[in-house]
Amino acid sequence: MKLTRIGGVVSAIALAATMTACGSSQKTVDAEASAASAAGNAGALIGVTMPTKSSERWIHDGDNLKQQLEALGYKVDLQYAENDIPTQVNQIENQITKGAKLLIIASIDGTALTSQLQEAADNKIPVIAYDRLIRNSPNVDYYATFDNFKVGVQQANSLLKGLGVDSGKKGPFNIELFAGSPDDNNATFFWNGALSVLQPKIDDGTLVVKSGQTDFKQAAILRWDPATAQKRMEDILTKTYTGGTKVDGVLSPYDGLSIGILSALKSSGYGTKGQPYPIVTGQDAELASVKSIIAGEQYSTIFKDTRELAKQTVKMADAVLKGQKPEVNNTTDYNNGIKVVPSYLLEPVIVDKDNYKDVLIGSNYYTEDQLK
Ligand code: BGC
Repeated sequence: MKLTRIGGVVSAIALAATMTACGSSQKTVDAEASAASAAGNAGALIGVTMPTKSSERWIHDGDNLKQQLEALGYKVDLQYAENDIPTQVNQIENQITKGAKLLIIASIDGTALTSQLQEAADNKIPVIAYDRLIRNSPNVDYYATFDNFKVGVQQANSLLKGLGVDSGKKGPFNIELFAGSPDDNNATFFWNGALSVLQPKIDDGTLVVKSGQTDFKQAAILRWDPATAQKRMEDILTKTYTGGTKVDGVLSPYDGLSIGILSALKSSGYGTKGQPYPIVTGQDAELASVKSIIAGEQYSTIFKDTRELAKQTVKMADAVLKGQKPEVNNTTDYNNGIKVVPSYLLEPVIVDKDNYKDVLIGSNYYTEDQLK
């Protein structure tokens, strides 16, 4: 990442040098072009589509984007699709019809928007993929997200910390693995990141996936649905954890799934003094899950500051609409099947009982009262 940043600085210097070398007439043309497009897009309509309101994070994302875009004078059409692909497709088509000058899309199925994005391109409407990469389309201009592989690494590291492997415990520990929605590009990144840490420990016998379900396909939970995760955990507990065998840890990639998983565990007798919950990870620092961490149920989550993601995306959108080149810090990792999409990655942070106050209250993401 550092190298990429340095690369960015070097090319910025090179660009500046080239610009100085260019005649003043070229500079005037560029300045006029960008001023014209800036004036042309002032107050423009921006279409923002989010997957669902059933998870708090997307509500924060949508609100933050809307607020910050409006503060720059843009008009915003913000839509939620309740995880229904045809609804999201319609919303994007409507935004194009309404004359949106740019689209910011957090997709439900990252492969389902090809023809809408072609329509956007035909109308010269730039597209920013928000948090989730849009796949199989050449018409995705930029991508703003968190370092998704790192999220998985952090979830796995936190699982090892909770199990005590970090502090020298040898196990073997029984664990189970959950993955996100297979149509969300992020789910594979989280999984690969987590397995990069866990696989060696599975191979050396420290960790045992007792159900034997170690494939992404077996672990994946369509549309990140908590009830599906609960059902899968119940099935695993009934089939695998019989005769007193206990599960010690569960890799869960999202707080909503963790709630389902914990609820299956509770029905099976976990969550008491004699039989405490296993170490369960999560993601998004959603309110109910942070409270669960404070109560000693869920072990950890990953904090992704949606205010920062909105800020970075709004900067990108504003630059694009002004005819400028937005800042990116990764031009290698996010190939969408057709091209590598220039990306800006933010840093995720592990949160557990030890640091939630510093990280979440310290950053004003939550107030102390909200966590009571
Ligand atoms: C996001 C995660 C979120 C998940 C479920 C992913 O694409 O990156 O932050 O937990 O979707 O909403």
